[in-house]
Amino acid sequence: MAVLLGAIADDFTGATDLCNTLVRRGMRTVQLIDGPAPTTEIPDADAVVVALKSRTIPAAEAITKSLAALGWLRAAGSQQILFKYCSTFDSTDDGNIGPVAEALMDALGTDFTLFCPAFPEAGRTIYQGYLFVGDVLLSESGMRDHPLTPMRDPSLVRVLQRQSRGRVGLVPQYDVARGASAIRDAFASLRQAGFRHAIVDAIEDHDLAAIGEAAADFALITGGSGIALGLPENFRRRGLLGDSGPADRLPPISGPAAVLSGSCSTATQAQVAYMRERGPVFTIDPIAAAAGRNITEEALAWAAPRLGGRPVVISATAPPEQVAAVQQVLGRERAGAMVEGILADIARSLVARGVRRLVVAGGETAGAVVQALGITGLRIGRQIDPGVPWTASLGEPVLALALKSGNFGGPDFFLRAFSVLSMEPG
Ligand code: ADP
Repeated sequence: MAVLLGAIADDFTGATDLCNTLVRRGMRTVQLIDGPAPTTEIPDADAVVVALKSRTIPAAEAITKSLAALGWLRAAGSQQILFKYCSTFDSTDDGNIGPVAEALMDALGTDFTLFCPAFPEAGRTIYQGYLFVGDVLLSESGMRDHPLTPMRDPSLVRVLQRQSRGRVGLVPQYDVARGASAIRDAFASLRQAGFRHAIVDAIEDHDLAAIGEAAADFALITGGSGIALGLPENFRRRGLLGDSGPADRLPPISGPAAVLSGSCSTATQAQVAYMRERGPVFTIDPIAAAAGRNITEEALAWAAPRLGGRPVVISATAPPEQVAAVQQVLGRERAGAMVEGILADIARSLVARGVRRLVVAGGETAGAVVQALGITGLRIGRQIDPGVPWTASLGEPVLALALKSGNFGGPDFFLRAFSVLSMEPG
């Protein structure tokens, strides 16, 4: 079975977001981490999302990585390519949205594409080309002072024009509201007038569905994860998206369970406290580790007799004053890297001892764990809480992984996660 939709996402969490949207609309989806190697096996999936870290690297590097991903996705059979960026259009006058999109267009031999980062559910809407975050313009939102990509111009037509060779036009809400054929006509008029790029207004989910329908024949579509709302239906309409059961079904995965927490966000603190009230938690002491104590061995000795019972919980999560104290002694970066390294080592050893179901709290922590485990891709499964699905790793052994960054999830997240997993049909 060939891949239908191939996507290139410019960061990891954005890629997961996109996968979630596609799975919920019925496409079996796999996320590949850090770009596929030429030898990466084609997974059995309707959509493959390649997660790059290309949002803020130099444009030339972002182009090279994106073109490599494109080559693999085309070889895997992708009939349409989606370039996914942030719903706040995070970029600078140097790129990378315009330059990457134009490189992909050249490689695909197409002279026209659309740009629509709207995500109404998350408060991102576009009207007359102006991007709103909630009820304020992009330039009045927190994005104004983003450390890497400050967004001070709310007009996406102007923002994109400054980073593109081709001319940028607009498909206004007036056309979008009239549905797919009006949008198709607007695309045709722009193209005929010599425009290569269309910013497309969207203020509601059904706008995105209509835009998706109008772009069914585009070789390249670009947008936020919202633009994926209308795409699965295009494949279904053509009879290409089979009914192979629920798209979020994972292979049955059993084996001991563990929670590794390296996030100090408020939500995670409440989640770890919830577990502490219900049983023992192994706490990582970064200062002791820096002083030479083998915390990894201590944690494994603690966990070994507990494996197979309730999930073992190993946590570095600490309140702000404790984190500040640790950082004062070790420095922020050293403390962070050391705790990430310890949790990654523990993850590897736990898997060697048979652990197969793992919840990891913390975005950076999850990245370190996934890398230490040598995981190249994830099949996306059922959602635990908005934005956090269960996943199954590609390759052997198959692990069930839930990667939760920062402030996601309610206090009972860890236990709920395992009960959602046990509801998977075996
Ligand atoms: P989040 O998604 O909540 O931001 P991350 O894992 O991305 O979580 O970031 C948390 C960072 O804090 C990691 O680098 C982690 O190693 C570090 N860290 C975790 N616990 C401690 C601690 N007790 N003291 C100092 N740093 C810590």
